[in-house]
Amino acid sequence: MTICIQNGTLVSGAGTRPGDLLIEDGIIQGVGVGLSGDQNIDAAGCLVFPGFIDGHTHLDMPVSGTVTADDFRTGSEAALVGGTTMLIDFATQDRGGTLHDALDVWHGRADGKCACDYGFHMAVTDWNARTRRELHEMADAGVTSFKAYYAYDALMLGDREMYDLLCEMREIGGILGVHCENGPVLSRLQEKAVAAGHVSPAWHPRTRPPVIEGEAVSRFLRLAYLAGAPAWIVHLSTADGLGEIRAARARGQQVLVESCPQYLTLTEEVYDKPGFEGAKYVCSPPLRPKADQDALWQALENGEIDILSTDHCSFNFKGQKEMGQDNFTKIPNGMPGIEHRPTVMYTAAVATGRIQASDLIRMLAENPAKMFGVWDRKGSLTPGKDADVVIYDPKADFTISAANQHHNCDYTPFEGFRTAGSVRDVFLRGIHAVQGGALRRTGCGQYIARKKMR
Ligand code: MN
Ligand code: MN
Repeated sequence: MTICIQNGTLVSGAGTRPGDLLIEDGIIQGVGVGLSGDQNIDAAGCLVFPGFIDGHTHLDMPVSGTVTADDFRTGSEAALVGGTTMLIDFATQDRGGTLHDALDVWHGRADGKCACDYGFHMAVTDWNARTRRELHEMADAGVTSFKAYYAYDALMLGDREMYDLLCEMREIGGILGVHCENGPVLSRLQEKAVAAGHVSPAWHPRTRPPVIEGEAVSRFLRLAYLAGAPAWIVHLSTADGLGEIRAARARGQQVLVESCPQYLTLTEEVYDKPGFEGAKYVCSPPLRPKADQDALWQALENGEIDILSTDHCSFNFKGQKEMGQDNFTKIPNGMPGIEHRPTVMYTAAVATGRIQASDLIRMLAENPAKMFGVWDRKGSLTPGKDADVVIYDPKADFTISAANQHHNCDYTPFEGFRTAGSVRDVFLRGIHAVQGGALRRTGCGQYIARKKMR
């Protein structure tokens, strides 16, 4: 049976054009005008996007003595309703454990539960001869991108390990993303704050000032330069870090830059909300002053940001964020967002005229598909690719609220945010999974073994 999405405005990174899309057996069969199928779906007045890809999520992840509120079922359902047809989550090595162990654990958490397609990055936390050998085997398992941390005691690598890992990336043609915050120094700032009796959420950003990110971005980029490896800066939040990226690109380095909707739409004033409300926004790096946000917008408009991801890592306010009621350092770090990235960014960036829909789709789908090795089958509305398709109605208006979200979380940082448009229909490999904004099919997600970056 063929499905034809008719009369929409098809969006690609190269531009927009009116057209029809013909789908058969889960694959895009044709793009053109005057097409029709066994079933025809009218997309007049709507934008038709390739399915969005979220390259940075944390689902069913144990953190700080608790587990994220969203697992792979609820998280992927929220993603799909929001138009995200593929997510890439971070499998994370345990110290003393192997990369294969971690991959097995993450498959156990995700397989059979996902509403959208999914893949895994691999976070390396224990650098040794075995880990080095296993890196080469990961590509066979479809894992071609890696992650390392400069912060968090249980996760971080030292400079020596980071350098070795970067050299290995060059060997295997992999890409390394790094959480760029100077962990030992921010821990020291936290100790001093708590010792002085500063225990409220307002001290979260104060103990992670922009230089904590800028220094780590600088160090990572210089080590990548030395190793001759590409560098992926995850969740960029500061002008300081951006300056280091510009310097690295000016000396000829390949730097892939990720930012997130929260850094572009929220600022650090939220931490001063009354009571313990500020805990809802505790994520790392923290939300920043307006000047940093302005710098990120300028970079986004200039095309200096390659991908927009969520860093979705949800914890309920009741019972989870509250673990840090007497000490902000005990608040689990992270926020929900996997559902709202496309509408928030369309509203803030496209509806305001800052960028075009074609610019947005590069950051939401094309670039992540290329960077994470799925461009052969995802990221654009091209015949032969998976029929992952989003019909977006730019005239619908919608207000984001904890009451209407699909995240398994008791709040949203975007409460009350009025969107310009909303996701009407979503197809996952031709399966009409979201209709009229409602989830109709779940559990259809497949693991996608990824190829190397192109
Ligand atoms: Mn991080
Ligand atoms: Mn993260």
